[in-house]
Amino acid sequence: MKKLVLINFLFCFALQGQAQQNFDTVKIRPLKVAENIYMLRGSGGNIGVMIGRDGTLMIDDQFAPLSNKINGAIKTLDPGEIRFQINTHIHGDHTGGNENFRKMGVTIVAHNVVRERMMKEQPNPRLNRTTPPRDREALPEITFSDRLNFHLNGEDIELAHFDPAHTDGDVIVHFKNANVYHVGDLFRSGYPFIDVSSGGGITGYITSLDKLLGMLDDNSKVIPGHGELSTKADVKIFRDMLADIRDQVLAALKKGKKPEDIPGLGIADKYEPKWGGGFVKGKDLVLVITDELKGTITKK
Ligand SMILES: [Zn+2]
Repeated sequence: MKKLVLINFLFCFALQGQAQQNFDTVKIRPLKVAENIYMLRGSGGNIGVMIGRDGTLMIDDQFAPLSNKINGAIKTLDPGEIRFQINTHIHGDHTGGNENFRKMGVTIVAHNVVRERMMKEQPNPRLNRTTPPRDREALPEITFSDRLNFHLNGEDIELAHFDPAHTDGDVIVHFKNANVYHVGDLFRSGYPFIDVSSGGGITGYITSLDKLLGMLDDNSKVIPGHGELSTKADVKIFRDMLADIRDQVLAALKKGKKPEDIPGLGIADKYEPKWGGGFVKGKDLVLVITDELKGTITKK
């Protein structure tokens, strides 16, 4: 339990670290992904942008101090109106600019639970702390549960929610004609953070990745929540790493290992060089997975 508190602490510390950094030095760098679709990197989650004669649609908005820079970068791609912004999930490094973009006239779209969670205090019992509700201006105006379709700029865009994974309000955005996906933090560089206090979980994480993989083909371009533009093969490696760690934790629990001993077994050691460079280490991930799965064993 102590370690779990530490993970949450480290997570918040990481987010705070980003929030306190000097945003003056951050550059917003656009990368062309398809004819009228771009990925923008700055500080925080990767932003997706689709431009065209019907107006601009963007995905995620990083931190509030970057809103003017992000808006400026988008306007150099296309000076037209930004009409919609989709939040892939609740976290502040993806939704921090909501108030600012709303004031610019952008309509914000998200999963139902993203709005619900933003409206309420978010207690984190493990941390013994509470995140206050977001300002009214930050709240998504359009929300949905499973699927929502946009038809803009000659493109059919499907928003899909699978199962509780990174959080319980994760949404992926699929540009059908361009074969481009923005998948939020469902897939990212580094080990995933499974945000249990926002309804995330390992079981849904893997089923969600399987549903995503069922949609991708070898030509698909995948914009991850964090990291480089990726492919189906990259998502598959990530999914297989997670499933292997899950399977090993489950096997250890079935063998009667004590949950508190499982993070010390070295289950994630071979994955550490590729995935352990961020704030989540293999042991942290093993601990969160063990915590979720131990209940499923004792019930049998
Ligand atoms: Zn996140």
